[in-house]
Amino acid sequence: MIAVYIVAIIYGVISGIGVLNRGLGAPYTYLFLFAVAAYYISYVSLRKINFLHTISAGVVANLVVQLSGGVHSPLFLVYFITFLIIGFRDNTRSYWIVSLGIIGVEISSGLINGPILILPIIFLIFAVFMVGFVIDSMQGHQGRMARLLSRYETRERFFSPAQYDSDKVRTTVGEIDRHKGIERPLLYFVRFLHHVFDAHTTVIFANGGERLVLVQGFSHSELFFPEAVIETRSGLYRQVIGERKSILIKEYLQSPDELGYYRGTVQIGSVMIAPIVLIESVVGVIAIDRKTGSFGEKEKAIFDEAANTAGFLLAMLRLYEKARYDVQHLSSIAELAEKLHKKLDLNEILSNTIEAFRHFMPCDDVSIASVDEVNNVGEVLISTYLEDGISFSLSDGLVGFVARHRNSIIKDDLSQGNLVVFKKDVKTPNASFVGVPIQQDDELLGVIWLEDHQRRKFNEDDVRILNILSYQLSLAWQRAILYGKVKELSIRDGLTDLYNHRHFQEILEAQMSEVDELALILLDIDHFKKINDTYGHQAGDEVLKFLARLISQIGIAARYGGEEFAIIIPKCSLKKAMDKAVRMKDQLLKSEIHFNGAKIRFTVSIGIAHYPNDAGNRVGLIEKADRALYLAKEQGRDRIIIAQTMQVK
Ligand code: GH3
Ligand code: MG
Ligand code: MG
Repeated sequence: MIAVYIVAIIYGVISGIGVLNRGLGAPYTYLFLFAVAAYYISYVSLRKINFLHTISAGVVANLVVQLSGGVHSPLFLVYFITFLIIGFRDNTRSYWIVSLGIIGVEISSGLINGPILILPIIFLIFAVFMVGFVIDSMQGHQGRMARLLSRYETRERFFSPAQYDSDKVRTTVGEIDRHKGIERPLLYFVRFLHHVFDAHTTVIFANGGERLVLVQGFSHSELFFPEAVIETRSGLYRQVIGERKSILIKEYLQSPDELGYYRGTVQIGSVMIAPIVLIESVVGVIAIDRKTGSFGEKEKAIFDEAANTAGFLLAMLRLYEKARYDVQHLSSIAELAEKLHKKLDLNEILSNTIEAFRHFMPCDDVSIASVDEVNNVGEVLISTYLEDGISFSLSDGLVGFVARHRNSIIKDDLSQGNLVVFKKDVKTPNASFVGVPIQQDDELLGVIWLEDHQRRKFNEDDVRILNILSYQLSLAWQRAILYGKVKELSIRDGLTDLYNHRHFQEILEAQMSEVDELALILLDIDHFKKINDTYGHQAGDEVLKFLARLISQIGIAARYGGEEFAIIIPKCSLKKAMDKAVRMKDQLLKSEIHFNGAKIRFTVSIGIAHYPNDAGNRVGLIEKADRALYLAKEQGRDRIIIAQTMQVK
C-alpha cells in the first residue's frame, strides 16, 4: 500500500500550501476528493490495519477539509465519517491520537488563517468524544465476551481427552460426560494436597495461553473466587510458566490481588506455585498458600513432586477418556450398521442415519443428497435444516465438489470468501463444514455432510469416522436400491411393463377397502391368435405393448393374462367408466400398428363391473366383469358389456 503513503506525503506538501494559501482552484479540490474516496475504499476493505494507515487516513481527511475551505466547508463532515471509520477499523489508541491530532490541526489552522469558528470546532470535539466513547464501550463489551469465551474454552481443553495432535473439543458422545472421568480424580488429588499441606487455599489453573483459568480449588477463605481468570502477561504466574519452574515464597508480602483467586484482601503467610507440564508444554499451574506460617524447602520438594504427579495423572486420565470415547464411538457405529442392515426402505435408512449422526457426531446439522453424475445434479434427500427434494447443480458448491472429486473436504469458516454449501442463493446458518462421498465400488450414490455453528469444528478424525459411517450407509443404500428393483420386477409384467396378475389382485383388494366406489374393466383382444398367425408372434407382442400404453392412460392397468387386460379406475362411477371405455375403443378404431411394413388393426371386447353396485368383494367383482367380457365375445366381439345390464337380462 505504498500509494497510501504517497497520498499522505503529497498531503504534507499540498496542505501546507492549502493552509498558507487557501483557495486552490476547484479542479484540484476535486482531484483530491477523488483520491480521498479511492483511498477510503481501499482503507475500509483492508483487513490488516497499521498505525501508518490510520495516520494517512486522518491526514487525507484533513487535506480534503483544508483544501475545500476549512471549517467553512460543508466537507467538514468528512471528519465525522473519518472518525467512525478509524474508530471501527483500528484500535482505540490510534483513534485518539489521530482524532486529537486533527482537532489540533484544525485549531492551529484557524489561528493562522483568521478567527476560530467556535461552533464547528465544538462539533468536531463533540464528534471525537462521542465516537471515542461508543467505540471504547463496545470494545470493553467485546473484551468481556472474549474473556468469557476463552475461560470456557480453556477449561474445555484442560479436561478434554487426549488429542495431542489436534485441539478438538468434543461435546457429546452418547451418555458419556467426558469431563467427569478427568475432573473427578483431579479434584480428589487437589483436595488431598490441600489437606497434606495444611493449606489455606489450593487451586489448579488451566493455561489458556494469555490467561489462566481456575478449574479446581479448595479454600478456607470466604473471599475465595472460584471463577478466577488471570492475565499472565506479568507477575508470579508468568514467571512460573515462562521458566517452567516452581516458586516458593516463604514470606508473602505482596498484595493477595496478585494471586488472583481472592476477591478482596486476605492475609497470606506463604505461597508455592508450580507448573503442570505435559509433553513439553505448561498446561496448567498449581498454587497453594498458607495463612500463617511458612512453607519450607522440604515441602517445596514434595510440592514439586505433586505438580509432576498432577501432570502424569492428567495425561493418563486424558488417554483413558480418549480410549473410552473411542470405544463408545465404535460401538455406536456398530450399532448403527446393525440397524441399517436390517432395513430395506431407503427413507428409513436415511432417517436412521441422520438420527444416529446427530447422536454421536457433535454437529448442528446433517444432510444427505443423492447424486446424478450424468446430469451433474444432486438432490437433497434428507436434512436437519433443508427441505427434502431441493435439487442443485454439482458445479455450485462444496457438496458438488465432494461429489465431483469423490473426496472429502473440511471447510473451517464458511463466512470467508464466497463459499456455497450446496446451492447458490441458499444460505447456511452454519460456520463449518465437512462432507464425504457415499460410494459403493465405483458407483457414487450421494454425499453426506455435517455443518456446525462453530468455526473450525471438524478435523481429519471426523472424516475418518464419517467415511466408516458412509461406507455402512452405502451398503444399506445399495441394498435398498436392489431390493426396490427386485420388488418392482416382481410386480410387473416383463413385456408390457404393466402390473402383473398377482399384483393386480393386491391392488384391487387394497383399492376396494380404500375407496367408496371403483370400476373394473376387463378387456380381451379379438382374434388375437389370427394376428399372431398372420403377422408373427413379434407383431403380436407389439400389439400387446401398444394396447398396454393406451389403457394405462385410463386407470391402474394390469396384464391379466396373455392378451387379456384389467383396468381399475378408483373413485369412478359406472357411467364415467363406460365413457372412458368407449373413448378408448374409438381411439383403437383409428389406430393401426406398423410392423415390418404391415399395418395391423384390431378390436377388443370389454366387460365392465362396478364396486359396490355389482359386487362387494374382489372375487365377486372380477367374476362379474369376466362374465360381461365373455358375453361381449359371445355376442360377436368388438363391444362393451356392462355387468349390470347383463343381470337385467
Ligand atoms: P378371442 O377373440 O376369442 O379372444 O380369440 P383369441 O384368438 O384372441 O383368443 P385365444 O385365447 O384363443 O388366443 C389367445 C392367444 O394369445 C393365444 C396365444 O398364443 C396368444 N398369446 C398369449 N400371450 C402372448 C404373448 O405374450 N405374445 C403373443 N404374441 N401372443 C400371445
Ligand atoms: Mg382374445
Ligand atoms: Mg383370451
